[in-house]
Amino acid sequence: MLYSKLMKVLIKIKLDSIAWSIRRLYCPVDKNALVLEVGSGGNPYFRSNILCDAYIDTRERHFAKLIHDRPTVLAYVEDLPFKDNTFDFVIACHVLEHSKDPEKFLNEIQRVSKAGYIEVPDAFLERLTCYLDHRLEISDINNELVITKKTGYVHDENVRELFLNKVSMVFPQIVRKYPFSFHVRYYWNKNEGGIKYKITNPDYKFNWDSPQIHKEAKKNKINIRSSLTSMFIFLLRQFFSQNKRNRHIDITRYLHCLSCKSDKFEWNMELICLNCGKKYPIIGENIINFTN
Ligand SMILES: [Zn+2]
Ligand SMILES: [Zn+2]
Repeated sequence: MLYSKLMKVLIKIKLDSIAWSIRRLYCPVDKNALVLEVGSGGNPYFRSNILCDAYIDTRERHFAKLIHDRPTVLAYVEDLPFKDNTFDFVIACHVLEHSKDPEKFLNEIQRVSKAGYIEVPDAFLERLTCYLDHRLEISDINNELVITKKTGYVHDENVRELFLNKVSMVFPQIVRKYPFSFHVRYYWNKNEGGIKYKITNPDYKFNWDSPQIHKEAKKNKINIRSSLTSMFIFLLRQFFSQNKRNRHIDITRYLHCLSCKSDKFEWNMELICLNCGKKYPIIGENIINFTN
């Protein structure tokens, strides 16, 4: 609660960008709550106990290295390998907008968790910036998520052209100064009716992919500033995460088989479902792969 109060004060005195960084320390649960993060990627929330991402390496998160310093599974949010109501809270930060099936995505996080937090770029920001690999435009209107499936990488060529002409040069500074106005931050709780949302074009089926531009250039760019930032975040992670607790989590207690939903597993180089025999490979030391 301390952090949410601090954020309010900072916003009041117009230090929105500092409040914005602090939001990542705020998670409205007590210290015993079990927290899942989906789309945890290269910079998970400190409070997350179990991490879930669909990829080891992907452009969807600009090739940021997957952090797996806690129990970690590789899985699609639309098909999570966890039992019902396993978690007290689920964090989904900048991941819903990548989904091709938002309905399944939102059903799954509500199946496995009692409450949660969703953060995405606001539809207006998305309309202008047209981020690669974003498939949804999302806004929150009267505490309801309004979701539109993008029917192409660029929604409006003319708006995009005008934006790139002049405004795009100063735009990042404006977003950094007023981040709360350009993002959706949505808290939900099943006791209060769960996630309220509507999809404006539910029947649309995706038939496009983002252009493959600047792929290698971005991947190989070594940037001193970003190295320092990730070192700093690494240190913060050591300090603020529940490292000791996370080390002792037996993740198999929370898992179920994606094929038969059985929760009986055996470790034998891989994770093997004792009911149907399906095998889930282990990547590295601790990442269980549920994506194939
Ligand atoms: Zn994104
Ligand atoms: Zn099975």
